[in-house]
Amino acid sequence: ASTTQPVAHLSTIANLQAKPRQHTSHKGSFGDVAVLGGEGLSQRGLSMTGAAWLAALAALHSGAGRVMLALLDEHAPQGIPPWPEIMLRRPSAQDWSQPTVVCGCGGGEAVQAWLPHILGQAPQLVLDADALNAIAASPALAQQLTARAARQQPTILTPHPLEAARLLQTSTTAIQAHRLQACLQLAQKFQCTALLKGSGTVIANAQRKIWVNSSGNARLASGGTGDVLAGLIGALWAQGSNADEAAIQGAFKHGHTADQWPADRPFSAGALAMHLAQ
Ligand code: AMP
Ligand code: MG
Repeated sequence: ASTTQPVAHLSTIANLQAKPRQHTSHKGSFGDVAVLGGEGLSQRGLSMTGAAWLAALAALHSGAGRVMLALLDEHAPQGIPPWPEIMLRRPSAQDWSQPTVVCGCGGGEAVQAWLPHILGQAPQLVLDADALNAIAASPALAQQLTARAARQQPTILTPHPLEAARLLQTSTTAIQAHRLQACLQLAQKFQCTALLKGSGTVIANAQRKIWVNSSGNARLASGGTGDVLAGLIGALWAQGSNADEAAIQGAFKHGHTADQWPADRPFSAGALAMHLAQ
């Protein structure tokens, strides 16, 4: 990959204005987002339930019509969830062929078993964290991911540099030294929209278009902010943007919200999810 193609800077092209909602619209007008992730209790005993909740919360607060949350937890929560607007689903009870799917915010190794089904079914798919790690570890899953584009099933990948390094079988240092090329390579290899996170988030598509985000700051360097980004992108995509626009606008809005953060409001990923600029 070369870096000779023009690089568009997002500060000048991202349109932050929420589209006006028609008076006669209903929840079906704004799309469904289904999040698959969660605890995925691994041998390491890690609980990542919060990651999936953060993605679902971000989707809820960025205008998705309906948000479903399928937790890969051994003991899925019973009763009324902390956010009753979010519909809890057993993974096996969710129809993955309809909504925009956000997969891999938590879930650990349990995500792997669901990926063949999700990669085959989801019409629009955002893959993050544990889903990306599973794909990096499995040539068969990587092949299934690459095959989606030919079926008009677009995918957005949202790796941080370590996840990108695993996907490209290289080191984080190499990724960070050549961020534009790395992002282009991801987009080409998997025939998708790739978003490489970190200061100066890069977005590239399989047609070799590339953008660099200029919003955001080191406040975002805290646990859970990447899960918020995945949910936000899912919601923008579900509301009718195309994959590139959803990634571009999501990255810009995520950073912009952190840039506009009031000095007296404590920052956390959960607070970010609640305050995504409309
Ligand atoms: P993750 O690594 O998955 O938790 O995602 C972290 C999120 O915060 C990504 O959207 C990053 O682009 C963003 N982020 C982290 N550190 C910075 C930074 N120093 N400046 C701007 N954005 C950042
Ligand atoms: Mg992450």
